[in-house]
Amino acid sequence: MTKHPLTIDDVQSAQKIIKGIADQTPLIPSVFMTQHCGGDFLLKLENMQPIGAFKIRGAMNAIAALDQDIPGVTCYSTGNHGRGVAFAAKQRGLKAVICMSSLVPQAKVEGIRALGAEARIVGASQDQAALEVERLCKEEGFIDISPFDDRHVIAGQGTIGIELLEARPDLETILVPLSGGGLAAGIALAAKTLKPSVKVIGVSMNRGASMHASLETGHPVEVTEYASLADSLGGGIGLDNQYSFAMCRDLLDDVILVTEEEIYQAMQQLYYEDRIIAEGSCVVGIAAIMSGKINTIKTPAAAIITGRNLDMTMFTKIVSGQDVTLGDTTIKGQPYGL
Ligand SMILES: *Cc1c(COP(=O)(O)O)cnc(C)c1O
Repeated sequence: MTKHPLTIDDVQSAQKIIKGIADQTPLIPSVFMTQHCGGDFLLKLENMQPIGAFKIRGAMNAIAALDQDIPGVTCYSTGNHGRGVAFAAKQRGLKAVICMSSLVPQAKVEGIRALGAEARIVGASQDQAALEVERLCKEEGFIDISPFDDRHVIAGQGTIGIELLEARPDLETILVPLSGGGLAAGIALAAKTLKPSVKVIGVSMNRGASMHASLETGHPVEVTEYASLADSLGGGIGLDNQYSFAMCRDLLDDVILVTEEEIYQAMQQLYYEDRIIAEGSCVVGIAAIMSGKINTIKTPAAAIITGRNLDMTMFTKIVSGQDVTLGDTTIKGQPYGL
């Protein structure tokens, strides 16, 4: 394997940091997807984490590495990373200021405030929130924890890869929701170190998928952000990306894009077939298979169900088959199974 900025040793150190709090989430079979794929299809339930998303793994690992005598920590976030940072900062008695754009759903903003952190809404895109983070670091001495482009964060997310291969050494394919790529980079590094033949496939929504656009171009590029059912997958990867871009380029076997309609249907399916409430961002792997965009998948396969922090008013609309309006688009609803 090519040289990466971190190794499985870093992921194993992260395992010790998160032990007992953010590790060993359930890995359960999806009966429906197993039937559909003709072989074991497993769901890694990161929606069961204390903050409702896997981001707690990376945030705990990054914050454990900091000195105690700093003014505080800050980050920009589509919501779940901010919640992870708020959780980890509270544990260590550090002040946290989470900067978010107005696209972040209210449920996520409230979750952050409930952990005692300050939620600061700045501008209408993640890039604008990032400017406030820069200012806090420069003028007030805060430490910035990137949601994906940080060695400790990537190592923390990578602990999922170790857990998967330890539970199922026979695993052939891992489907990972892809945004800034910290999750995919960490999982791919850990899983492929343990089993080089395992395939890791990233999946994003088809509008505003910054990692996909950057991989196509060959270097990090900016994309327009759109409201999406997969709101946790929005935002850029940073033009000065240091780690996650190169790791995703070198380690991912494929990147697939799915439409809002496909995400809508997969959310219904996960709810009705597996009885799981999960964000649109989690079901992109299932959507890629059900839409035929991935038509043969080597099993056993696992999909990472990354989080559950969604707006319940919108979710009840989706499971009852109603139309959902997001920003400039309306997704035409349909009852499940029709
Ligand atoms: C952050 C997040 C992702 C994507 O993770 P990246 O490391 O940015 O690629 C996927 N799903 C959920 C629920 C998230 O919060």
